[in-house]
Amino acid sequence: MTDTAVRYIYILSAALFVFSLKWMRSPTTARRGCFAGAVGMLLAIVGTLMRPEVVDYKLIAAAFVIGTVAGVPLAYLMPMTAVPQRTALSHAFGALAAALVGTAEFYRETPHGAVMVALVFETLLGFLTFTGSMMAFGKLQEILPQRPITYRNQNVINLTILGLAVASGVWLIARPEQAWIFPIFIALALVFGVLLIVPIGGADMPTVIALLNSYAGLSAAAMGFALGNRLLIIAGSLDGSSGFILSVVMCRAMNRSFTNVLFGAFGQVQTKAGCAEEQRAVHSATAEDAAQILDAARSVIVVPGYGLAVAQAQHKLRELYDVLTRRGVNVKFAIHPVAGRMPGHMNVLLAEADIPYDHLFEMDDINSEFAQADVALVIGANDVTNPAARTDKSSPIYGMPILDVDKAHTVMVIKRSLNPGFAGIDNPLYYLDKTLMLFGDAKAFVTDLVKELAEVAKAA
Ligand code: NAP
Repeated sequence: MTDTAVRYIYILSAALFVFSLKWMRSPTTARRGCFAGAVGMLLAIVGTLMRPEVVDYKLIAAAFVIGTVAGVPLAYLMPMTAVPQRTALSHAFGALAAALVGTAEFYRETPHGAVMVALVFETLLGFLTFTGSMMAFGKLQEILPQRPITYRNQNVINLTILGLAVASGVWLIARPEQAWIFPIFIALALVFGVLLIVPIGGADMPTVIALLNSYAGLSAAAMGFALGNRLLIIAGSLDGSSGFILSVVMCRAMNRSFTNVLFGAFGQVQTKAGCAEEQRAVHSATAEDAAQILDAARSVIVVPGYGLAVAQAQHKLRELYDVLTRRGVNVKFAIHPVAGRMPGHMNVLLAEADIPYDHLFEMDDINSEFAQADVALVIGANDVTNPAARTDKSSPIYGMPILDVDKAHTVMVIKRSLNPGFAGIDNPLYYLDKTLMLFGDAKAFVTDLVKELAEVAKAA
């Protein structure tokens, strides 16, 4: 009876996971998607706790308390701008859990055959994802240097360590009773996870996080095979494949070759480019000047970026949108797939301020419209607008598709200084004759713009 109930709960849970992914594809249904995923997970936990193999709840209760004590502050204390780091930590914990379960199973059961293959796969991916994700967390949190660290023969050293880890895994599959190899196998996987992330920096990080997500999912799916748990196989495969698809999408958005990312962007060195440009003059303007230009415009394309999130200026931006649309200006929002610090960052931010979804446009859909736009208003975005990506072969972001902001009649950029963005490179956009730099914090400047526009409206 319990077995049948668990089976039905698992089916319901698996269906909710699938619907959750489907609903998360659109901003209009994303909340429902998150809710469905959470309910699916709750059902999965309840179903698992009902399984007849679970005979004692004491240790489970202790793990539940520890998990809650760590998870609740993670959810509430980390700001929105730190979500990538938080995601990296979640992957690290998920992968560590899978790897520890695999380790426990190895010492408890010493499995053979297909189960041992799944267990080796689970522990290898689990441990390397754990250290890799901790490294990604350290880099994004700026505890570790963000720049790629490279050294001679890095490819060879890394691939040798991976090769040794795989070889010891194969050995364990062939001779599971030789348990002394297991700690060596674990150590190699842990070291490889660190080395995988060391040479990666700047613009590659989002893709790497998506890839680590995929690894953690695949590790969980392998754990499902090792434990004979179908729901784990389904959930892990969904996680693994969606992470993989996301990393392919991110690769395309950043023009990274997938092989390059798969092998940890080995040997990629990102240098500061265009330092000479820092000496060049820019045109700056006040909120009053900018308000006059915006008021005279008929079409404005807003380009939000990471600085908008840092300044938490989304609600003020909504006010600006309202003022401009009331004055008959056609306002659209251009969303670059890697703007901000996580996939979908800008969509989430603008949704928080109730900016209508149908005014948000993906890069490919809006790029052709910049040439007709009176104003491109860039708010806290930098790398995703950098024309060097189109023209400068020496630039680390050369080939990355960008928003064609420089094609608008007038470009206005709100940021605090001429400092570079995430990729650490200068932006030639700022030195164009048509570009006006609006120096200041995004929230403060947009607030001033709204005030100035109200003055203009009063005077009219
Ligand atoms: P960006 O290139 O990082 O530039 C953000 C700009 O915002 C900075 O130049 C900064 O200039 C400005 N800024 C910071 N705080 C501000 C504030 N309070 N008010 C006004 N401006 C502020 O951002 P982006 O154009 O959105 O590009 C995203 C970058 O992050 C890409 O390189 C991407 O590869 C990378 N990345 C993306 C993800 C993802 O999944 N989306 C994840 C990790 C990394 P000032 O200091 O002069 O103000």
